[in-house]
Amino acid sequence: MPNPLILSTTAERSALMSRVRQRGTLPELRVRQCLSKLGAHYRLNARDLPGRPDIVNRKLKKAIFVHGCFWHGHVSCGRGRIPRHNRPYWAVKLKENGQRDARKVAGLAALGYDIMIIWECELLNGATLTRRLKSFWFRS
Ligand SMILES: [Zn+2]
Repeated sequence: MPNPLILSTTAERSALMSRVRQRGTLPELRVRQCLSKLGAHYRLNARDLPGRPDIVNRKLKKAIFVHGCFWHGHVSCGRGRIPRHNRPYWAVKLKENGQRDARKVAGLAALGYDIMIIWECELLNGATLTRRLKSFWFRS
């Protein structure tokens, strides 16, 4: 996959973004593997729930979003920075993404869901990921 930071046209970026959104991404697969090892039962992309969370258990009311640090603007991580090139465009785009994410979380919370956001950069440490997933998934 090309580096989004060096794509030259808006069309190229849109094409990339739509691919990114549609596919079960690698970070998502990592989280799913981890959950399976913990014996957690889940479904993917619940289309009828607000924000279509990546991973869901309706009975337990658990929802997980796996966020790419760049597209979702991870503030406390270097990958979430707004690119220097074409800065105004990215500032608006990433702000909108953040607002959309906030609406998704609010919509699910209103239905009583327990929600976890996992950032792509947090997948690097497998032990920490497992511990966090375990305490999230099995807490009542
Ligand atoms: Zn990050």
